[in-house]
Amino acid sequence: MSTPRRQMPRRIYPLRMLGMGLGGMVVGVVLWERQASLYAWAGMVLLAFVWPHVAYLRTRYSADPYRTEINNLLVDSAMAAAFVPLMHFNLLPSVLVVTLTMVDKITTGIRRLWAHALWAILAGGSVCALLMGVHWAPETSMRVMIACLPVMVLHTLSVSMVSYQLIRKTARQNQMLDELRRMDALTGLFGRGHWQEQAEAALRRHHTTDEPACMLMLDIDRFKEINDTHGHTVGDEVIRALAHVVRGNVRAGDCAGRYGGDEFAIVLPGMHAKDALAIAHRIREQTEGVRLRSLPGIRITSSIGVAPADHRHSSLRAWIDAADTALYTAKNGGRNQVAGCMEPALLPAV
Ligand code: GH3
Ligand code: MG
Repeated sequence: MSTPRRQMPRRIYPLRMLGMGLGGMVVGVVLWERQASLYAWAGMVLLAFVWPHVAYLRTRYSADPYRTEINNLLVDSAMAAAFVPLMHFNLLPSVLVVTLTMVDKITTGIRRLWAHALWAILAGGSVCALLMGVHWAPETSMRVMIACLPVMVLHTLSVSMVSYQLIRKTARQNQMLDELRRMDALTGLFGRGHWQEQAEAALRRHHTTDEPACMLMLDIDRFKEINDTHGHTVGDEVIRALAHVVRGNVRAGDCAGRYGGDEFAIVLPGMHAKDALAIAHRIREQTEGVRLRSLPGIRITSSIGVAPADHRHSSLRAWIDAADTALYTAKNGGRNQVAGCMEPALLPAV
């Protein structure tokens, strides 16, 4: 059984005591006003002040506390409905106890519990009417209205607090999910999807405001050999080390992502080709200097293609192709080098 399910009975116990106790006070005022019989008083004490403890003991010694607690919740509804004939259908407290018991069922979030509660309400009300008889006195005095206030206020506030906490928790979890969606788990850099969104935005800005932007496409040289020789764990360590180098060379507003296996893509908004090339050279140099803690003997190199955004890049695909073309120039030139795709003639036809 999951933890929230196991905790449910213990959480409900004080709430049930409070709710039933305050409800019992309201019924007590009605009974006192109409000088009710001893039977009616005994019924009220049983429902409001004895039942919560019986309910707790039932769940405590149950083989399936969660299921028992669901039954208790339905008994709560039947008990609340039993107050109605006991109060001779006194209008305000009758509507109040039945409404609150329904709200309690709905806020558990348990599927269709509210529908079962409707039957429990009918049953509880009918049994009590049969036992105590049906007397119709719907007028509510000012005294009874005042007695209703604590349960109205406390119940509304506690349900609002629970909803508030739930909304905050959902918002936090949504934020975490969003971050997980944006991040690459291995490197902590942006994942491919989020990187593409950012790159598209930079290209759009270039088209509309002429703001320069550059893309770096980086690929680790002969990475397959590292994997094959030293295993995937070492390969992963290399990828993480490269991500560390990349992160150390970008500004806060830049967008560095893991594009594929051993391939990284960086968008540098507001940057001209000359500065982007300087950054690429720095990354390439620092890659050579990487030493793994587990295998300090391994030497790593990277090849980097640089492509400035151009008005002829009608889509992100075209810009990425330009950076890829530069990357393959670097690979074909013997690896461990930086190549730029500066000449318009080198840009792919779009
Ligand atoms: P080149 O210099 O031409 O880039 O040669 P290469 O060996 O690096 O070739 P390539 O870039 O195509 O190799 C990518 C390899 O990366 C293939 C795949 O097995 C490996 N790879 C992809 N994702 C991961 C990963 O998450 N962890 C590890 N350890 N390896 C990965
Ligand atoms: Mg590679």
